[in-house]
Amino acid sequence: MQKSLHITMHPGDNVAIVANDGGLPEGAALSTGLRLREAVPQGHKVALVDLPAGSPVVRYNVPIGHALKDIPAGSWVHERLLKMPDARGLENLPIATAGGKALPPLEGYTFEGYRNANGSVGTRNILAITQTVQCVAGVTEFAVQRIKSELLPRYPNVDDVVALEHSYGCGVAIDAPDAVVPIRTLRNISLNPNFGGEVMVVSLGCEKLQPERLLPPGTIPITDLRGEPEALDVVCLQDDAHVGFMSMVESIVRQADQHLKRLDARRRETVPASELVVGVQCGGSDAFSGVTANPAVGFCSDLLVRAGASVMFSETTEVRDGVAQLTARAATPEVAEAIIREMAWYDAYLQRGSVDRSANTSPGNKKGGLSNIVEKAMGSIVKSGSAPISGVLAPGEKLKTRGLTYAATPASDFICGTLQLAAGMNLHVFTTGRGTPYGLAEVPVIKVATRSDLARRWHDLMDVNAGTIAEGTATIEEVGWQLFRLMLDVASGKKKTWAEHWKLHNALVLFNPAPVT
Ligand code: CA
Repeated sequence: MQKSLHITMHPGDNVAIVANDGGLPEGAALSTGLRLREAVPQGHKVALVDLPAGSPVVRYNVPIGHALKDIPAGSWVHERLLKMPDARGLENLPIATAGGKALPPLEGYTFEGYRNANGSVGTRNILAITQTVQCVAGVTEFAVQRIKSELLPRYPNVDDVVALEHSYGCGVAIDAPDAVVPIRTLRNISLNPNFGGEVMVVSLGCEKLQPERLLPPGTIPITDLRGEPEALDVVCLQDDAHVGFMSMVESIVRQADQHLKRLDARRRETVPASELVVGVQCGGSDAFSGVTANPAVGFCSDLLVRAGASVMFSETTEVRDGVAQLTARAATPEVAEAIIREMAWYDAYLQRGSVDRSANTSPGNKKGGLSNIVEKAMGSIVKSGSAPISGVLAPGEKLKTRGLTYAATPASDFICGTLQLAAGMNLHVFTTGRGTPYGLAEVPVIKVATRSDLARRWHDLMDVNAGTIAEGTATIEEVGWQLFRLMLDVASGKKKTWAEHWKLHNALVLFNPAPVT
């Protein structure tokens, strides 16, 4: 019979999780001598002591719930036995109390990247075609297929051509205050470092989001040799000059050719690791997320911050229950106030829809052993490592500071990824326990499996296996370093992620908190 494996996150915890593949049967003995009163599935919690009704159930040294009835030691502690605590209020939080002590610098690490005129660095060389409105998506996609087959082979230094398709642009209350979120998201995505400042726009003509509103004069980096801002390159489908569908396609292909010529002249050069802009998130989480993959990402996040790079963590509903940890870790009182401002905005947003942060957890999360959002949040927040939080972004804003930034976004995988792209991410790290084939066309996505079972079955989808941590064959530090080195190779184009290999591209999904009409 296999040796029983259980993991306790903190000495103060009164539950542990079962780590064995397939769980443990009734009667199995833990290394502490405790016998299981019933079978406990993998990733699920077992009571280490008798938990009388009403007593706190503690994991990560935090009460993740209160026992709804007496739970004897050795029992399976599942979500139906727990009452979830209320979210902590946003008053009287600790403000920048952790000292904001900078981590020791890490020097000497570099990668090969594409340096842009504005100083930013790309990890891929991609022509992105911006669209003002969903109406033009079909025509643009038709043109992109022609560009890929006819033009791209002539420009070997260009990796890909991507149409930035989205569902916004018309039929929306564009003057509503919250419309600023989807508009600036689209604007900032078109300026992502991987696109080299080569902005071209396809517009319909009659849409609410006019090209000048999306990209006002002065927002595009200066790219021409005269040092003057170039006029916005727009192909307007309703232009009188277009007679027939093919003339629209020809216009898009002809304009794309100009941009491809310039992109093809880009060359990789050695740049310091500080030019990495990494967005981290998780999806399809299980109880191992907070034990293996997320702590390894947190360790790696500290390495990146020490190397002077930029790291963003997000997913507001998944860190809301840890707000006191975040405000304490803020580098300055201003940063702490910005964290509170973003959390309060999101609380109000959820309230408008008559829900709260508990709407986050999925059936798969619960099947994987996560009883509720409090337990999920404690495992999610560790992705942020231990560095002081030096910046906060509202949804769709562009990154302004290096170091660790809280980029406030929904936890939805696609919306979070889309907003981190807008912030200027040039590398994406995604942890998963249940498994998701997630990928983006705009930026490489490194996927980290929380369990060896998933890494074995999805051997050609997962880039890193953090399950070795639960098995005791690797430490959090070792997997963190492995991930750090892989990031430098992927950023340099020396390695492709599995999502890149198979061309797995999820849609961009804009966060539009404003009404549609
Ligand atoms: Ca997510």
